[in-house]
Amino acid sequence: MLVADSPALHDALEYAGRPKQLLVGGKWTDARGHATTQTENPMTGGILAALAEAQPEDVDTAVAAARQALDDPAWVGLRPRERAALLFKLADAIEARLDEFAALESLDSGKPLRNAANVDIPQAVDHLRYFAGWVTKIEGSTITSNVGDYMIYTRREPVGVCGLIVPWNYPLLLTMWKLAPALACGNTVVLKPAEQTSLTALRLGELICDLDFPPGVVNILTGRGEVTGAALAAHPGVDKISFTGSTDVGKLIAAAGAGHLTRVSLELGGKSPNVVFADADLKAAASGSAWGIFYNMGEDCCAGSRLFVQEQIYDEFIEQVTDVARSIRVGHPFEAESQLGPLVSSTHQARVTGYVSGAIADGARVVSGGGRPGHLGDGPGFYFEPTILADVTPDARIVREEVFGPVVVATPFSDDEDAVRLANDTIYGLAAGVWTQNLGRAHRFAHAVRAGTVWLNDFGPADAAAPFGGFKQSGYGREHGGEALNLFLETKSVWVNLAS
Ligand code: NAD
Repeated sequence: MLVADSPALHDALEYAGRPKQLLVGGKWTDARGHATTQTENPMTGGILAALAEAQPEDVDTAVAAARQALDDPAWVGLRPRERAALLFKLADAIEARLDEFAALESLDSGKPLRNAANVDIPQAVDHLRYFAGWVTKIEGSTITSNVGDYMIYTRREPVGVCGLIVPWNYPLLLTMWKLAPALACGNTVVLKPAEQTSLTALRLGELICDLDFPPGVVNILTGRGEVTGAALAAHPGVDKISFTGSTDVGKLIAAAGAGHLTRVSLELGGKSPNVVFADADLKAAASGSAWGIFYNMGEDCCAGSRLFVQEQIYDEFIEQVTDVARSIRVGHPFEAESQLGPLVSSTHQARVTGYVSGAIADGARVVSGGGRPGHLGDGPGFYFEPTILADVTPDARIVREEVFGPVVVATPFSDDEDAVRLANDTIYGLAAGVWTQNLGRAHRFAHAVRAGTVWLNDFGPADAAAPFGGFKQSGYGREHGGEALNLFLETKSVWVNLAS
């Protein structure tokens, strides 16, 4: 069957073409002045959808609706097991429509349908179920007083109205990284998906409306970052902003929140080191290193975009990674054999192309890839080959800045100390990988590298239970696991005077 005849693609295109609105206070509504913003189809370059663009007045209305819902007995009065049941129901509803969500995600972002269907959507469901499980386990503590005859106990209370701002690389999954713990803790939310990829958030909103969520608990505002996102981040009625996106925008969010001392947590960019020692299982390391950067077209905050290889195996190992890179099939995301699809947008394609041509102008050697895949000719779509660059200097832009595309720079290193020095020579600290069969060396590296996640003999897995977040300019706060609850709860100490 030709991909153009795929019923899944047809249905997703039909959904994308329908008029889109904002979800505010349980009702679908147009943006003030009927403002809209358009998204691109990554496979064709044509217009995919016209989204409502929430204006500052719409943000006011949505925040007011979320504030009102915080006091709604239908929400605040739910027993923990009832709130958990609601979240489990939402997870079941998404899972029942897994194929539909996967097709929308693939169409909107360009990611291969099989990745959306096997990774993004199932992991989003898992994440929601994981946090639904926490709802009945959120507990305070009692404290023995040092200062008098008191009983002191603590309560964990929702932080309030949470603004959730999400990027475009794993749209539904990263939405769930925020929405699931926020709701599990009893908050209400205003969700702003990325302007490039809002379809699954809107579909999620429809499911939420069909379930028993009281109006205003989940509000969804589409629109561009500088319009809708900026108004949400600076809003005095928002108690907490949970942001995932670029480090530059993260700094704007932190500054906007400072005015009202809004609680802010930031999951930001990365330039992750991936270190291969000569004593590694080289076959596993070559495959893991290639997929550690190229998976999801390199549009991954953790992507292993700086590959450090011990000098005695450097040439041989780069050849092995090149073999993997050249074997990766780039094509239409709805074709079953495609392993990589197009980049998300024309703007992003221009950005990735600009980084690679800049690196070449700075003297980098192209080992593999470097542009549009030859077999796709001059056809449409924002496709880019898996690209390996070498012979770069440590201060080159391509080494220091996040490309967020399928581009890796390879550099040799001499010994353990050199590996740690190079790995840490970055403003970022999100993730790192190390490949070696020497247990002590692996753990010494894991302890010395300044990154929030370290993979030993692997690169890339995530788990709802494992804390995730950045050191340095990769942000602050930890999502996932019990630590994520701290981002969405306030602790209150209650003192009881026991004196007669
Ligand atoms: P981005 O920062 O441009 O946008 C992210 C979100 O912020 C979008 O919803 C956008 O509309 C909004 N936004 C943009 N400008 C804003 C403003 N002035 N005020 C408020 N909101 C604004 O990032 P992107 O291009 O969508 O995503 C790529 C970036 O996200 C990369 O840097 C990547 O590393 C990072 N990322 C980090 C993680 C993580 O968990 N650490 C995960 C995925 C992506």
